Parts: sequence; structure tokens; C-alpha cells
Amino acid sequence: TKDIGKVEPDYIRSFQHEDKLIPSTWVVIRIDGCHFHRFSEVHEFVKPNDEQAINLMNSCAVAVLKEFQDLVFSYGVSDEYSFVLKKDSQFYQRQASEMVSVIVSFFTSMYVMKWKDFFPQKELKYPPYFDGRAVCYPSYEILRDYLSWRQVDCHINNQYNTCFWELVKSGKRKSEAQLVLKGTQTGDKEKLLNQFGIEYNKLPVMFRHGSSALWDKEDTTRIHEKEECNGNSGKRVIVEHCNIIEPTFWDAHPTILS
Ligand code: ATP
Ligand code: ATP
Ligand code: MG
Ligand code: MG
Ligand code: MG
Ligand code: MG
Ligand code: MG
Repeated sequence: TKDIGKVEPDYIRSFQHEDKLIPSTWVVIRIDGCHFHRFSEVHEFVKPNDEQAINLMNSCAVAVLKEFQDLVFSYGVSDEYSFVLKKDSQFYQRQASEMVSVIVSFFTSMYVMKWKDFFPQKELKYPPYFDGRAVCYPSYEILRDYLSWRQVDCHINNQYNTCFWELVKSGKRKSEAQLVLKGTQTGDKEKLLNQFGIEYNKLPVMFRHGSSALWDKEDTTRIHEKEECNGNSGKRVIVEHCNIIEPTFWDAHPTILS
């Protein structure tokens, strides 16, 4: 039999390949709930948007920002959240697997720990889990494009889902509702919502814009809708529901991505 004590540790370690992300680029770690279509059904989320479920996601994101202080910004919608690290972060020596796994496991633990705070009447029926990935964006402009892409996705999905669930509530089967919406453009969907007495732009801003969790800058005038979240560190992470596609937001927060 082989004497395990004689195995050279360097030789065994050589099988662990490095997965370092490109230096001095914007790293985004995006997590997404696994099979949340089912999870939201089993836990009877209000459709299309369960406000408490979103508040729970936001609260977990706030906790993640407070725990890992290299995170400068985050944006979430539905069962996903994108966490942006500062450009020169040395978080886990930029090793992708470690970065992703600690953030996704911390977020998941938080989700389970905080469940009762947001759903005091609802039992958590089975353990939720999330996947995660890390992607490097080489410039400020491309990072902004990434964030815009997520917010556009939020809008498109929200508009579709709002129409879909209005049709279902009006008595259509899910398959019929899908057929009605097949091939429709934004304008068609707006008209459809009007027929149900809904003006899209009057829907809650959190549903239309998604949520951003970010560090508060003390001296700012409060121009956006905000919820305050006090942490132990004294620094505050706030949740906003602003338009992150328009330059206005970034002009007002020049230090986030500096
Ligand atoms: P995957 O495992 O591939 O991510 P998924 O079932 O999680 O599959 P997603 O595309 O991530 O699919 O979509 C998440 C789904 O979770 C939405 O389609 C929606 O049904 C549900 N969901 C998430 N958050 C909410 C919420 N706040 N209110 C109502 N439903 C929600
Ligand atoms: P890192 O974040 O770098 O992994 P760590 O504090 O988790 O740091 P490890 O080298 O992973 O350090 O060691 C885990 C430590 O956790 C042990 O040193 C021990 O102190 C503690 N620990 C883990 N499991 C047990 C256990 N079953 N009983 C007592 N202590 C434990
Ligand atoms: Mg997924
Ligand atoms: Mg999902
Ligand atoms: Mg998703
Ligand atoms: Mg370790
Ligand atoms: Mg350890």
C-alpha cells in the first residue's frame, strides 16, 4: 500500500488550477434563484410581483454589501441580483470560484435566515438555492451597458408578466394568455393593460425599475425613493428604485464606479 505521508503536497496542489479574473476590470457576480418558478408557486407568491419576496431579496443584498465591503453596487430583480466589485478589488485574490461561492452561499443563508421576518405566516417548505457566475467587464461603459441590459430585462419581463396575469385573472387559461401575447410589441401590451384599467407607468416603481442596493453617500440630497437600513458598521446601505440606464443616476453618484 502507498504511504500517503510521502505524497508531495506541491504535486497534489498542482491539480488545482487557478481561475483568477482579469486584473483591474469590473467584476460582476450575478446570482439567480434555481427553479424559482416552482419555488414562487409552492410558496404562493403574489403574481406577477410579490412585494415581500422582493423586499426579502433586497434585504439579503443589503446584508451581502455590508459583509463584503469591496462590493460597490448591486442591482436586483425577480430572483436575481448582480453584485459589482470595485475595479481593483483583491477579494479572494480575484479567484472566481471562491468569489462566487462565498457570495452565493452568504446570500442563500441570509434568504433562509430572514424568511420569517418577511413571511411570518408562511412556512419555508424546502431549501431555496441560487446559482452564481462571475463576469469581467473591461470598461465603465461596458459595465453600464451590462446594468442597463438587466434593467431593460426587468421592464420587458414585468410588462409581459403584468399582461399575462391580468389575462389569467380575467378568466383565460395560461396557454390562452400566452397565445394572446405571442408576437405583441410594447405598444400592444400597453393598450391591453389600458383595457384592464392599468396604466403601466403608475405601477409601483420597484416593480418597474427593480432595486439597487448601494452605500449611502452622507451628503446627498434625497432625490430618490429610499429605504434606510442601519448596519453595525455605521455606514449605511440603502435601497433605491431608480433608473440606472439614464446617465442622471450615475452623474448624481459619481463615486460609486470611480
Ligand atoms: P432557473 O433555475 O433557470 O433560474 P427559474 O424558474 O428560477 O429557473 P427565472 O427565469 O429565474 O426562472 O425566473 C424566476 C421566476 O421566479 C419568475 O418567472 C417568477 O415566476 C418567479 N418569481 C421570482 N420572484 C418573484 C416575485 N417577487 N413575485 C412573483 N414571482 C416571482
Ligand atoms: P478560512 O475562511 O480561510 O477557511 P477558517 O477560520 O474557516 O478560515 P479553516 O482552515 O477552514 O479556517 O479551519 C476551520 C476551523 O474551524 C478550524 O480551525 C476549527 O477551529 C474550526 N472548526 C471546524 N469544524 C470544527 C469542529 N467540528 N469542531 C471544532 N472546531 C471546528
Ligand atoms: Mg438560473
Ligand atoms: Mg431563477
Ligand atoms: Mg431569474
Ligand atoms: Mg477557506
Ligand atoms: Mg474554513
